[in-house]
Amino acid sequence: MTQGKKPNKKAERIYIFDTTLRDGNQTDRNKMTVEQKVTLAHQLAKLGVDAIEAGFPESNETDLVSMEKIAREVEGPIIYGLARTTIRDIEAVHNVIQYSKRPGIHTFIATSEEHMKKKLHMSAEQVMKEAVKAVKISKNYVPNVIFSPEDATRSNRDFLVEILGRVIKAGATVINIPDTVGLSTPETYEGLIASLIKNVEGIGNVRLSTHIHNDRGLATAVTLAGIRAGAREVQCTINGIGERAGNASLEEVVINLKDTRFRMPRSMKGDCYGNDFYTNIKTELIYQTSRMLVSFTGNEPGHHKPIVGKNTFQHEAGIHQIKPGIYEIIPAEIIGRKGGILVIGAHSGKNGVVQAAKQLGYHLTPSQVKMVLSNVKSLEEVRTEVTGEDLAALIEEAAITVPERYKLIDVIYSGGGKHKKHATVIMHIDGKQVTEMAYGDGPVDAACNAIKGITGLDINMHVEKYDPLGAGSGVQLKVKASIPLDGRRFFGIGVDTDSVIAQVKAYVSCLNRAAYLARNGNSRH
Ligand code: MN
Repeated sequence: MTQGKKPNKKAERIYIFDTTLRDGNQTDRNKMTVEQKVTLAHQLAKLGVDAIEAGFPESNETDLVSMEKIAREVEGPIIYGLARTTIRDIEAVHNVIQYSKRPGIHTFIATSEEHMKKKLHMSAEQVMKEAVKAVKISKNYVPNVIFSPEDATRSNRDFLVEILGRVIKAGATVINIPDTVGLSTPETYEGLIASLIKNVEGIGNVRLSTHIHNDRGLATAVTLAGIRAGAREVQCTINGIGERAGNASLEEVVINLKDTRFRMPRSMKGDCYGNDFYTNIKTELIYQTSRMLVSFTGNEPGHHKPIVGKNTFQHEAGIHQIKPGIYEIIPAEIIGRKGGILVIGAHSGKNGVVQAAKQLGYHLTPSQVKMVLSNVKSLEEVRTEVTGEDLAALIEEAAITVPERYKLIDVIYSGGGKHKKHATVIMHIDGKQVTEMAYGDGPVDAACNAIKGITGLDINMHVEKYDPLGAGSGVQLKVKASIPLDGRRFFGIGVDTDSVIAQVKAYVSCLNRAAYLARNGNSRH
């Protein structure tokens, strides 16, 4: 299915207004550099959003720099900036967005009793004048003007009807109805939009838009209710980031508006919003965009976040023996992800491992299956999650014996005392003997540093688990470790009565697996 395809002739287009760079960027967790903001804006344009709110200079002066760059460079969507109703704010926005081929100004003022009295110290009459003035000034500068009555959902209904009629007359092209504090239910918001459509003069000449916060976990539902009532534009953010509990998330709203009925039983086909609406979003770029934002902010969405969470397309092997479509009503490919990822966990039995291995192209012997299962169990004792990636590595570990490119001959290290720790490592690489000495925070760190010097690979080991093989002072210690390389994780094991050497052996074992498997690939399809 291509983007923007009408599911049926009567389906109506919903415009996507992305405010990741404004509302999303307003919390400290999501701060981005100018470069990152511009890169993200380009990605949003590729994604197919209809409008980008590039910033709010009043709350963040550095926005001016990124906004101007975005206005100059990013083509396709309308580029908006947010302004209060003051001339100063509006001019600040205009000065930078004027370089866009499609500039827009989004101006707002609070209309609730609460905000007018306690925040603005203005009468309703004054607020009305301010709003009309701001829209007129903006309209002199740009063709696209959005007006938002801030805290609309707590505002007096008659006052809203009146002020909106006036700003429409003054030239607003989009009227946004924000649920600034996230208090609406789908029913109350649907009722509000319906009554505005019925009562506001000239409302038929503008587009109505939603801006919903997720304080009660209802942002997507309330947004869809707004659409049901007649709103045709949605303000939203990637991964749902934003003030407090965040905004309606772009991916959730867009996927709900996509026609995915082919995965639904016939009796439910009427239940899909994608039957009546569509967007121009290229949904196959959603996941890529989500990951770009995470890489810029470091703010990972919850693992169970719909559409973009890490866990969303994973299935515990042994419970959901999976074929696409059995448990996934949203085809993973339409958002650019891989579906049917098997995860192994406490509930997975032999069958789960066998199936997962088959997916990776391996046929395991019963003893190899046993080995994978016991390694999964030991990983689970120390980790909250064993991912599909971990499982793949454990299966490879059991299925393939790798040649020893690196062979540890000896480690001589200094222990105890207060002096800086050092270690000398003697190794064979491809059969040649090499000796290296290095310092470190402890003997293991020193030895690993020496090995890094020998291999030229600056990769840190992550120790997963220590297992004493018995009791008493002379027992062997089994160390399980992993290293990351080329976006994958490679496991290794080291066994020795000397705990330092056991760890160093585990590190070398990881390196051998990485050297072999990264070079030879694997037989994953
Ligand atoms: Mn907001």
